[in-house]
Amino acid sequence: MADRVIITLACSKCKNKNYHFQRGKKKDFKIELKKFCKACGKQVLHKQTKG
Ligand SMILES: [Zn+2]
Repeated sequence: MADRVIITLACSKCKNKNYHFQRGKKKDFKIELKKFCKACGKQVLHKQTKG
């Protein structure tokens, strides 16, 4: 069984789920990245969310 999880990053402003990552399931820490959000039209902090 592959020890991987899908992580979704959602825009902290409009809550759009814009980015998906595959990560090893080693430690459960929250990811926060500044990424471009199409809905907001600019770079916004994205936070890890479920799904
Ligand atoms: Zn947004």
